Amino acid sequence: MIVDVALAAGARLGEGPLWDPHAAVLRWVDILPGLVHRFDPASGEDTSFEVGEPVGTVAGRRGGGLVLATASGIFTCAEDGTGRTRLHTVSTDPAGGRFNDGKADPWGRFWGGTMLEGTDGAGAFYRLEPDGTLHTVLTNVSVSNGLGWSPDGRTMYYVDTRTGGVDVFDHDPETGAVSGRRRLVDVERGWPDGLTVDADGNLWVALWDGWAVRRYTPDGRLTDTVELPAQRITSCAFGGARLSTLYVTSARVGLSEEDLARQPHAGSLFALDAAVSGLTPGEWAG
Ligand code: ZN
Repeated sequence: MIVDVALAAGARLGEGPLWDPHAAVLRWVDILPGLVHRFDPASGEDTSFEVGEPVGTVAGRRGGGLVLATASGIFTCAEDGTGRTRLHTVSTDPAGGRFNDGKADPWGRFWGGTMLEGTDGAGAFYRLEPDGTLHTVLTNVSVSNGLGWSPDGRTMYYVDTRTGGVDVFDHDPETGAVSGRRRLVDVERGWPDGLTVDADGNLWVALWDGWAVRRYTPDGRLTDTVELPAQRITSCAFGGARLSTLYVTSARVGLSEEDLARQPHAGSLFALDAAVSGLTPGEWAG
């Protein structure tokens, strides 16, 4: 597969790619400087707004606007970042962490999890219902990361990066209830980070310190490795008119000058033609 540099973004911690089919743009975040980006592949233009604190996730909202999960909690805002309204204050235990990866599901719920750098088990994983209530789904989470759902909605995939693999849950799309957590994939090349699920139900998993995105079947068999010219691959999402372009984010954070000299594309947004389509991204229904 041919990998293009869609945007030489130089992101410190590029994350959370999300295709917005209404505007035909890719939203993504640079977590540490607290930037929410909007990349228009038609023009190549990328703009951003500042949140004023680290931001782990941007999600869409039915009827317009965005959901943001930040260092201090969960907010709604307009697409340009104005009109920010806090829904919930959330902190790690001990405090000092932030929201990391999150996503809206096809049934209108928003899911996201937290982390505290350098402290295992300080985070949690949450589900925000359309009525605004926030449920704690998991505690004792270290680095809450990728998530996705099978096309039939009966399975949820979840990564706590520090566990070194991808887990699955049984998922009830009627209620959002999850149960029966079990290991699907052990990742032996770097660390599993963000993920997305394609229309055939396969998983595409970004590998932090793994220089790649890998594809796995729903039963956990490795079928493809997409090599990328950056070490810290953070997440991926399908976009474009036919949802057949895989957009991949990456990071520069923590790399030495020597490392960065060897990987000038670190922090870029990559794009590749995946020869398969993604699923329509979910939006929070609240
Ligand atoms: Zn991540």
